[in-house]
Amino acid sequence: MADERRRYLAQQIELGGAEIILGRGRPPEAGQQAPAEPLPAERAAEPTPAGPSDSGTTKWKKGAPPIPGPGLAVTSPAPVLLSNDIASLPTLDAVAERIRTTYCCELCPHRTNAVPGEGNPGARLVLVGEGPGATEDATGRPFVGQAGRLLESILDAIEVPRTSVYITNIVKCRPPQNRKPLPDEIAACIPYLHRQLELIRPKVILAMGGTAAESLLGAKKSLGDLRGKVHTYNGIPLVVTYHPAALLRNPNWKKPTWDDVRIARQLLDR
Ligand code: URA
Repeated sequence: MADERRRYLAQQIELGGAEIILGRGRPPEAGQQAPAEPLPAERAAEPTPAGPSDSGTTKWKKGAPPIPGPGLAVTSPAPVLLSNDIASLPTLDAVAERIRTTYCCELCPHRTNAVPGEGNPGARLVLVGEGPGATEDATGRPFVGQAGRLLESILDAIEVPRTSVYITNIVKCRPPQNRKPLPDEIAACIPYLHRQLELIRPKVILAMGGTAAESLLGAKKSLGDLRGKVHTYNGIPLVVTYHPAALLRNPNWKKPTWDDVRIARQLLDR
């Protein structure tokens, strides 16, 4: 039990929530371990001998922001506007096979592996990033590098197993030197994402980073403008947050990200 609490607190610190959880003191720098001694919050969270224990199910709710109001409401392009017959591919496997076996833009010939996405075909939560990085290109799997490890710890903290979600990207092939995908690369690749979302029809979509948010919402706005609202994509609630790779560069964004993912988590329960 103590181990479980320590792991949870370590996650909060990693996510930048230390001030809230601990109530005082500076959060450790990124990479520092949570102190091994009992923390004030740990002591406060000790279940009373006679009382019920709340461990394991809803700790992320403590201090979670309320679900914000509506933002943009968008619909994906009608199938007739999607490239060739992507809109009629019958399964996620068929979409993945098409991605792996065709070239749709200038990124494709340079890939080691295409990265169509992976996860539960019946996922209630779909996470969308920007595009594969080096490890993803080498393995053909999304979010398996450093940013992926941080993403997993975020999912862990909201008690959503990675295996329960579907994770994909706006573009399915690695841009050179991890540069942002260009508008024509996004335009060529995004029909696959529209079809993936249509097939999965999740309860909530989490757009991670400006490229995912702008591409899915068709809006040229800053992340600051797009965060903090519940947008809808084909009627599905869509929450915008920072990209995990951005959090590695700027740990100050971990706290707002922690708020965003807890909004998404609450929408899953709604
Ligand atoms: N960054 C992304 O946007 N996607 C990945 O799959 C990995 C890193």
